[in-house]
Amino acid sequence: MMAAKNSHSFTFNESWDEKRERAIRIVKKLMEMYPRKRLLHGDPFFTLIRCIISQRNKDETTDKASEALFRKYPTIQDLANARVEDVQRILKENGVGLWKNKGIWIVECSRIILEKYDGKVPDTLEELVKLPGIGRKCANIVLAYGFGYQAIPVDTHVNRISKRLGLAPPKVSPEKVEEYLVRLIPKELWIYVNHAMVDHGKAICRPISPKCNECPLKTLCPYAKGLVSDEEIRKA
Ligand code: SF4
Repeated sequence: MMAAKNSHSFTFNESWDEKRERAIRIVKKLMEMYPRKRLLHGDPFFTLIRCIISQRNKDETTDKASEALFRKYPTIQDLANARVEDVQRILKENGVGLWKNKGIWIVECSRIILEKYDGKVPDTLEELVKLPGIGRKCANIVLAYGFGYQAIPVDTHVNRISKRLGLAPPKVSPEKVEEYLVRLIPKELWIYVNHAMVDHGKAICRPISPKCNECPLKTLCPYAKGLVSDEEIRKA
């Protein structure tokens, strides 16, 4: 099915191989536009807890709440032994949405990792998604940003931009977008995708009124040619 001409022409009239070639050009161009001397990658446990806090929050809120939480509970043992109500209070005081559930998930995750995984965050998607509050996006964020592995977390920027660029059909779920991206993009480039698309989504390909005229990807982009619209793109 994948090899048939036009079977993936949901935007440009192109074969799968042509789409693959275009995807590689797009990622390489994004890497030039948003170069990084080194990829941000840090402690897996911190990344995981931060990801739980970040769901449906602004970056500033996540930063503030994570800092306050880790100041009070600097280690996994501290968080595993914390009272859920105390963790919830810190989240609430720092403006975190869904603080009740997130407080429960944070303490539960810490206990499970300590007891079941000997204090080490598991490093596979299959194990990560078994943890409370951890879906596919967070699991991939932990793999990419916590461990430095090749993974493509599909957040709201990656979802929107991939669809505007015709790398995934406009109405599919973020999980499907991930499937398209991992098939289109060679594995050694996966880790750049989230970094670069987040930067691009903040700078140029913004949710409302993307600046297509000044975008270096416009010749490669079906949205800029009117072949896909935001109305067709379902929210992530
Ligand atoms: S041309 Fe427009 S829609 Fe396409 S990637 Fe650039 S800003 Fe986004």
